[in-house]
Amino acid sequence: MSDSTLRIALSKGRIFDETLPLLAHAGITPLDDPGKSRKLILDTNLPQVKLVIIRASDVPTYVEYGAADLGVAGKDVLLEHGGEGLYEPLDLEIARCRLMVAGPVDERPIHGRLKIATKFVHSTRRYYASLGQQVEIIKLYGSMELAPLVGLSDRIVDLVESGNTLKANGLIPLETIMDISSRLVVNKASMKMKHQAIKALISKIGEAVSRKKKEP
Ligand code: ATP
Ligand code: MG
Repeated sequence: MSDSTLRIALSKGRIFDETLPLLAHAGITPLDDPGKSRKLILDTNLPQVKLVIIRASDVPTYVEYGAADLGVAGKDVLLEHGGEGLYEPLDLEIARCRLMVAGPVDERPIHGRLKIATKFVHSTRRYYASLGQQVEIIKLYGSMELAPLVGLSDRIVDLVESGNTLKANGLIPLETIMDISSRLVVNKASMKMKHQAIKALISKIGEAVSRKKKEP
């Protein structure tokens, strides 16, 4: 996009909801609610700013290729994507959770290699490599909690916020791999071509993040 429009890629749900107040501080308000509208490109009060609503794990791809100038993505997603193609100027400190290893409450002794089911193959491989532990990683796309219950894996690596989903499935968190929050990401060419607009936006959003931090 060589014109003056700014496209911001967001996923529905918690990231959209928690990014809204930050955008509002930067003077940007969507004209539609993605919870209600089926539109994938939302207009905002600023004619040159559009919000593109996509799947969380697709945000880095849209931004890397310049189909969106900016985006918001979880650190988990960015680590799986591989971050070299993007700038990551701001930790928005939203959608906080932890990437954790979890296992059955009544885990039996495990013989041989641990089997780990996860969507986060890259981060999981790196974690166990850092421990010098050989594990077998089984790639899943969702509902990781099910895997140990039906004997697909010994443990899982998943995002944990309250731990209630784990608990409801007879699992407990065992080890924290890392703290996760969502980041603002920027296309590298856009950062050059639309420097003024993007710099101003980053600065406003950054201000909103630090204000929120000071709230009691
Ligand atoms: P999809 O549903 O499209 O496969 P997803 O499940 O990763 O993707 P969301 O559930 O919207 O999509 O999660 C988006 C981001 O929010 C995640 O990448 C992560 O950074 C963060 N997140 C996920 N689960 C939690 C949670 N339980 N608490 C807080 N943040 C979370
Ligand atoms: Mg989800």
